[in-house]
Amino acid sequence: MKLLKKRILQDGKCYEGGILKVDSFINHQLDPTLMKSIGIEFVRRFATTNVNKIMTIEASGIAPAIMTGYLMDLPVVFAKKKLPNTMRNYLSTTVHSFTKDRDYEVVISSEFIGPEDNILFIDDFLAYGNAALGILNLIEQAGANLVGMGFIIEKEFQNGRLLLESKGIKVESLAIIESLSNRIIKIKE
Ligand code: 5GP
Repeated sequence: MKLLKKRILQDGKCYEGGILKVDSFINHQLDPTLMKSIGIEFVRRFATTNVNKIMTIEASGIAPAIMTGYLMDLPVVFAKKKLPNTMRNYLSTTVHSFTKDRDYEVVISSEFIGPEDNILFIDDFLAYGNAALGILNLIEQAGANLVGMGFIIEKEFQNGRLLLESKGIKVESLAIIESLSNRIIKIKE
């Protein structure tokens, strides 16, 4: 996606340990016009699937997920990182966070996912694939079906795609970062 790649090169910043900061347009301050284009691109890439629900994980996945859900006219549900006091029946799993280097629980109410669901998972980043595997685990516990996973940015050198594709998952990323070595952003053409 040309517009996105251009923006990453213009406004993205590299941090120690292979972290790309895009918080001026994707995951802190948001550019709704860019997010709309991202949604349109996800719709195009998953148009042939039988998706009936979009799923993401809070907080950074919510913006691209809701754009995609709005354009497809489908419900969007996000996995929560804190169990609400009022949630009685839920599914949970543990995810290892690469950026924070710790494990955390994610939960989803059993009310919003079930065997009738064909899920498209949308998130901001694909790194090692841990968040995605956590979501896959929730989907499996619910007896739902996963139709694919879409990421705004994939860091190819952290190999999350290999892990997901080895499980037969259709993976689509709108910008693929080949390297962040020496604080230089290299994006796949
Ligand atoms: P994974 O679970 O694939 O290792 O990492 C994906 C999650 O970690 C994403 O949901 C994202 O929030 C966060 N993440 C991974 N790499 C980066 C990065 O380079 N920059 C930012 N801002 N978040 C990242």
